[in-house]
Amino acid sequence: MIVDDQKGVRRLLEELFKREGWEVHAASDGVEAISKLDQYLPDILLIDMKMPNMNGLEASQIILQKHKNLPIIMMTAYGEMEVVKQALDAGVKRCITKPFDIIVLRDIVMQIVMDKVS
Ligand SMILES: [Mg+2]
Repeated sequence: MIVDDQKGVRRLLEELFKREGWEVHAASDGVEAISKLDQYLPDILLIDMKMPNMNGLEASQIILQKHKNLPIIMMTAYGEMEVVKQALDAGVKRCITKPFDIIVLRDIVMQIVMDKVS
């Protein structure tokens, strides 16, 4: 599942992972992501930090209370070191700084999902 308030980012990541053969669901903020997770539990969640309504850190904290084993990758802005620390403390698996190389992101996602099933 991809959570980002920017339509362009959602579309880019949706296309990338659909091409890899994944079923992809998208949400535009933390509130929508939490409600979608009640109907559909993904293998991995990619979530933006800066979003209206509920940011990625708040959403991740709430999501991880209910879904402890759901791997979350949070997309942060350069210099958000305090946020990154809080996210990792909350149980977020990885943080990746925007802008990122989509191939690097794809490889991180694959690695985390492989580790989860093995
Ligand atoms: Mg954003």
